[in-house]
Amino acid sequence: MSAVKMDGKALSAKVRNQILAETECLKTQGVVPGLAVILVGDDQASQIYVRNKERACSECGFYSEKHILPATATEEELLELIDTLNKNTKISGILCQLPLPKQISEDSVIAAIDPQKDVDAFHNSNVGKIMIGDYDFLPCTPAGVMELLKEYNIDPSGKHCVVVGRSNIVGKPMAMLLLHKNGTVTICHSKTNNLTDICLSADILVAAVGKANFITSDMVKPGAVVIDVGMNRNEEGKVCGDVSPDVMEKASYMTPVPGGVGPMTITMLMKNTIKAAKLQNGIS
Ligand code: NDP
Repeated sequence: MSAVKMDGKALSAKVRNQILAETECLKTQGVVPGLAVILVGDDQASQIYVRNKERACSECGFYSEKHILPATATEEELLELIDTLNKNTKISGILCQLPLPKQISEDSVIAAIDPQKDVDAFHNSNVGKIMIGDYDFLPCTPAGVMELLKEYNIDPSGKHCVVVGRSNIVGKPMAMLLLHKNGTVTICHSKTNNLTDICLSADILVAAVGKANFITSDMVKPGAVVIDVGMNRNEEGKVCGDVSPDVMEKASYMTPVPGGVGPMTITMLMKNTIKAAKLQNGIS
């Protein structure tokens, strides 16, 4: 039996339509959500991500600005731009596309963004709020996964949820959101012993490793829900996930790559941007 494909593309389209309707309503109150995206350097993958974010902004009826700095830009130049955007009332949300060139500290850049405009939810104060479960913004990728689980009526409560990967942007917040929904959560990483055994005990398995086809069929319990966050390129240059495609035959539900978590990530960025616009204008 093959798993049900969790269609992130279709859910994204549905949520973006809802956001567009909400934007139209906000516009009647004189509020236009605005997103500023900053790209430093000419990383090809980053250029694609930025283009997709611009397209999503236009689908949601947002105002958007793109700021491109050369790969040689200094940290001071970038911080100056962020300061200007922090003060710009047309801008509700600021996103600085990572990774940044070596001469610029990502931590300093994240810290410089006004927490009320931090639509990536990377700022320390937003991370702290997520930890205690009282947040304005959720980090986009884990939030997208939670929306997908909800759409397919998968309740993490009481389930063993295994997250493979502990990055600040995916693994750790993912574990926290599953915990908030009463999952029993195990976080695995490169130093985890008995990874296969732990994965085999997962009712919900989230792979955020960054290695093509890392999770193989022998690591998955029959009937498990498998969420593939990975975005890798295989030897032929094709986009593939962290989960081997044959896991489809063992799982009950699984996200495809592409078309699963990826589109949801950008949609959750749109959700955060409209939330930011509302917060900044005192609209609940
Ligand atoms: P990171 O490289 O920051 O983190 C990878 C994690 O995987 C680390 O915690 C690492 O452990 C763990 N890991 C590496 N090797 C192993 C191993 N052999 N066994 C167990 N754990 C291991 O990656 P990100 O979290 O940023 O991204 C993960 C993947 O998700 C990537 O493919 C990325 O492209 C993708 N991604 C997709 C998004 C989307 O929208 N779909 C958004 C963001 C990311 P340790 O900490 O010990 O090093």
